[in-house]
Amino acid sequence: MSRRFPSSQAGPLLLMGYDREGQTSSSFVIRCGTPDCEWGFPMPDLGEIAVEACYSSFRNHCVEVHGLKEDDDSQIFLDLGKWTLTLLT
Ligand SMILES: [Zn+2]
Repeated sequence: MSRRFPSSQAGPLLLMGYDREGQTSSSFVIRCGTPDCEWGFPMPDLGEIAVEACYSSFRNHCVEVHGLKEDDDSQIFLDLGKWTLTLLT
């Protein structure tokens, strides 16, 4: 008179706990402030290392796509309201 419950039923419940992390990482995408530009940098977090990586990646993008000179020392402006990067020239 004994019944065994399938242990696999616990699987989907456990997986749901990991969805939140995926949403967090995909919600931090910093984009190029130039209209119609598709460039974006997915941020793992807002730590100093991630921000530095984002800035240098954006600078490379400007050299390649927007005709910025490699030795240009223009400041990069991060708009915290819109999550966009623009070059101050
Ligand atoms: Zn751009």
